[in-house]
Amino acid sequence: MDQLHFFFFPLMARGHMIPTLDMAKLVVSRGVKATIITTPLNQSVFSKAIQRNKQDGNEIEIRLIKFQAVENGLPEGCERLDLVPTDELLNNFTMATTMMKEPFEQFLQECRPSCLVSDVFLPWTYDSAAKFNIPRLVFHGTSYFALCVTDSVTRYKPFMNVSSDSDAFVIPNLPHQIKLTRTQLTPFDRIEEEKDMSPMIKELRESGLKGYGVIFNSFYELEPDYVEYYANVLSRKTWAIGPLSLCNRDIEDKAERGKNSSIDKHECMKWLDSKKSSSIVYICFGSVAIFTASQIEELAMGIEASGQEFIWVVRPDNEECLPEGFEGRTKEKGLIIRGWAPQLLILDHEAVGAFVTHCGWNSTLEGISAGLPMITWPVFGEQFYNEKLVIEVLRTGVGVGSVQWKRIDSEEVKREAITEAIKKVMVGEEAEGFRSRAKAYKKMARQAVEGGGSSYNGLTNLLQDIRAYSSTSD
Ligand code: UDP
Repeated sequence: MDQLHFFFFPLMARGHMIPTLDMAKLVVSRGVKATIITTPLNQSVFSKAIQRNKQDGNEIEIRLIKFQAVENGLPEGCERLDLVPTDELLNNFTMATTMMKEPFEQFLQECRPSCLVSDVFLPWTYDSAAKFNIPRLVFHGTSYFALCVTDSVTRYKPFMNVSSDSDAFVIPNLPHQIKLTRTQLTPFDRIEEEKDMSPMIKELRESGLKGYGVIFNSFYELEPDYVEYYANVLSRKTWAIGPLSLCNRDIEDKAERGKNSSIDKHECMKWLDSKKSSSIVYICFGSVAIFTASQIEELAMGIEASGQEFIWVVRPDNEECLPEGFEGRTKEKGLIIRGWAPQLLILDHEAVGAFVTHCGWNSTLEGISAGLPMITWPVFGEQFYNEKLVIEVLRTGVGVGSVQWKRIDSEEVKREAITEAIKKVMVGEEAEGFRSRAKAYKKMARQAVEGGGSSYNGLTNLLQDIRAYSSTSD
């Protein structure tokens, strides 16, 4: 086989499609052909960046499959996770993804790629790839640490040894002593009995274990104990090739990831340029988490009371919730971005001093790569596990005290807790320690992706492994 050809099939959620695009760009930069599979509505997440990439002489192809939203009881055009209106409809969304199987297999048959990198949330793609003897690599889009926590929690069920939801228990066998409460576990991880597991969840869990190996958006030096644990204790083949976001080197690529920014990038940079080094708190909760109106109010009051300058990305559904007079009072101190922010550009600016994050893995790793201390506010997914990595293992941040897993955040984190966490990270006694540890990780992250670095070599190894697989199966 001459040129390798990678197929990428991400879950239709921005947090999964954005790193997938970066992965495709990375492999293309090493002479590999890349094809991304998605639905018509999501084409725009990729198209501009692909166009820009083309100008550099590289090519990423995109193949579209119709998404049967209405046929599965979803609203018309509901082709992305953040568009699913209620938690009850999440199953319908999953069902609709399985309907993509037939056209997907036609693509596989036609193109015969050297490998498939597909999302853990598309478990059926394993069988599709196996049909054509194509190695399937799983992409979870999270840290080694989070997957080690998941494995331990589901294997040993430590949550069954406590009497209340708020009692903390130790996660058995991990390299560090990590404690969680039941309320911080994902619903998938806190199932007590095998028989209570829906076939869908069972398939999801097994999907993570099946296939040729696992690709991680992480780097060895960030979580060496967990890379080793995953490989040696859980015996799975992995390649760490991140931070993926660092493949975005020019201003356009950094400014427009997944969506057009709601603010002009030059205007945003101009505002930041006028600020002192490390003085700005950047607040953003990713693409899915939804906050209640009263929580937005608490957050606004908490930021104001901290006295710190800030950029706050407010989602359109929360715009109306800003307390009266807040914007007027904080005009000099804050920039509010309504909608989508050029996050990488902001994080990399030297005026930014801390990141208030929901601990989605992309944001967490982008914050780490920018050398920023973090104020952690997990909401759902495996975000509570990522928070533990930041606070207790890396020791580069503090939490606001969010403990309740929920896609729609109904828990109230009080303004005082928010103010205290921001002050601790920005100006408290420990601030210097947070900053210097965070800077050290930034350096390691950048070294990892340069020639000869651990992630650069991780990708080299991956390409060699796929080449070897292809030559034995030819
Ligand atoms: N993002 C962005 N602008 C925004 C919000 C998010 O560019 O206003 C990007 C962010 O940089 C990250 C991704 O969207 O790459 C969000 O992924 P993450 O895993 O952090 O959270 P999720 O959206 O999956 O909850």
